[in-house]
Amino acid sequence: MRDIDVLVVGAGFAGMYAVHRLASDGLSVRAVEAGSDVGGTWYWNRYPGARCDVESLEYSYAFDDDLQQEWSWTERYAAQPEILSYASHVADRFALRDHIDFDTRVVSVVHANGRWVVTTRAVTDRSVHGDALGDDVTVWNARFVVMATGCLSSANVPDLPGIADFEAAGGTVLHTGRWPHDGIDLAGRHVAVVGTGSSGVQAVPLVAEAAEHLTVFQRTATYAAPAFNAPLDPDVEASVKARYGEFRAMLQKRATAFGASYPRAHPSALTVSAQERNEILEDRWMLGGFAVSAAFADLLSDPEANDLVAEFVRSKIRAVVDDPATAELLCPTQTFACKRMCVDSGYFEAFNRNDVDLVSVADNPITRLADRGIVLADGSLHEVDTIVFATGYDAMTGSLARIDIRGRDGRRLVDEWAAGPRTLLGIAVPGFPNLFTVTGPGSPSVLANMITAIEQHVEWIADCIGWLDAHDHVEIEASESAADEWVGHVNDLAASTLYPTCNSWYLGANVPGKPRVFMPVLGWPAYVRRCNDVAAAEYTGFAVT
Ligand code: FAD
Ligand code: NAP
Repeated sequence: MRDIDVLVVGAGFAGMYAVHRLASDGLSVRAVEAGSDVGGTWYWNRYPGARCDVESLEYSYAFDDDLQQEWSWTERYAAQPEILSYASHVADRFALRDHIDFDTRVVSVVHANGRWVVTTRAVTDRSVHGDALGDDVTVWNARFVVMATGCLSSANVPDLPGIADFEAAGGTVLHTGRWPHDGIDLAGRHVAVVGTGSSGVQAVPLVAEAAEHLTVFQRTATYAAPAFNAPLDPDVEASVKARYGEFRAMLQKRATAFGASYPRAHPSALTVSAQERNEILEDRWMLGGFAVSAAFADLLSDPEANDLVAEFVRSKIRAVVDDPATAELLCPTQTFACKRMCVDSGYFEAFNRNDVDLVSVADNPITRLADRGIVLADGSLHEVDTIVFATGYDAMTGSLARIDIRGRDGRRLVDEWAAGPRTLLGIAVPGFPNLFTVTGPGSPSVLANMITAIEQHVEWIADCIGWLDAHDHVEIEASESAADEWVGHVNDLAASTLYPTCNSWYLGANVPGKPRVFMPVLGWPAYVRRCNDVAAAEYTGFAVT
């Protein structure tokens, strides 16, 4: 058993910054990562078209001014290989790999005698269905554990009968988040893309170009706005870099649209004339990305306002897609932006190709795979040789639930969270002292620019550990009552909006059997204030021993 101050699980942007900050604070730190290198999301998601949808000048670390000055992005929205190179550059620059065990999975985290016993096993093989693990175990004895396991890192591959038969008959099964690292040649293939969320929307245009034929299986049509991606304008880069600190501080104050630098929202879609509303929406549309979802402050609270914006986006889809029946099928009907909106580059245009078909599985679901393809409830067979599941993730709780985490008195995290995740600030869980979650359920997390959210969490956690040590405290634990109050607050905020009206992964609705609970907290600036107030008041809501 090896003794250590802090064991960090995961080496995506969260784990990397946690290692850097905690090691810089003089603590002994080890991170354990299932992948073979740093980058997390950007290490795993190598599907064609993968790129960020928050602009790269914003979707990058702010903690080191030299780093943000020296790195140059080539595009407005960087593609996956460039973001992975950035992660690698950060790892080199701060010698992070010295602190990380790669190709290793944490299988259990157990509280014993006031410490955490963390057991890891080597990853010996990987496939779309998960990792194979070796028999050798390593055991760490840590004072603190930081779970930097990612909100979107547990692939949700539908449990369909016949997958093994399809593969045995020569078919290829892929998931966007477990993409083969050597790439895959789709030339000559008949490909299915199942799922039309952000991953499917990004992959479809490029898969369409590469494959012989593409069939897209759509359960819920999606709202997407064009990225208008382009090479990064050197003047824009120079002007941001000239005042990067100020620019980041301005983003911190933004409460909507993933904290992006869009113009402030107009108060209401209902208090402007139809012509004015249309002009505002057109202006936002031309900005690209999520700007349209930040047009009016009431669009996620007032159904009428929401419907006006939804209809505007539907009109854009109808204008792009040639075949009226296909256009109608691609027009979403659920509340606009209550599932995470997508940002596309040629998604709707792809359906104008002769070699791309759209199949609705909303009322006629996929029931199984056969040797030669996908079978729907009505018995119809769609012949394909390659299936790309763009079916998303067991979001926010999945990667934690896959580890055997046992707190004080043997309490199991999966039992504690059986009715939904229960945290204080998305950072700490009652019964699990000295264990922190980065961007966990109950924090803004996936509703924020996630690198910003990660930095805020890591800094809060590191400051907390520093404060404990400075005051000779041994342990910190969220109180039951404070966590109950916080979960109630998270639920109340969500209930005051239209977010709960559709089946999003924010609610766990994409995973069969998962409790329907809105997991992230709304409102970035208020959340940050709350975290700061808690720390300033010597960790109110926490028991310190
Ligand atoms: P991750 O990057 O998911 O890293 C977690 C790591 O933990 C993984 O590498 C995983 O292998 C490891 N891990 C998990 N469990 C274990 C275990 N038991 N043992 C060992 N290792 C383990 N967010 C934005 O803000 N803007 C965007 O544009 C954006 N684009 C995205 C695009 C895609 C395709 C996806 C899937 C997500 C995107 N996100 C985006 C969200 C993205 O996940 C975050 O921005 C960010 O990269 C998360 O970093 P992380 O370190 O918290 O988690
Ligand atoms: P997702 O948003 O959950 O979308 C999954 C899609 O698969 C949905 O269309 C879903 O339909 C469908 N689906 C799931 N199971 C299905 C089944 N059994 N049969 C048919 N369809 C099924 O997942 P994602 O696209 O991977 O995106 C997840 C999140 O990752 C995003 O919201 C975003 O936060 C992040 N991301 C960002 C980018 C980016 O642009 N930077 C790219 C990818 C991912 P339903 O809607 O009906 O459930």
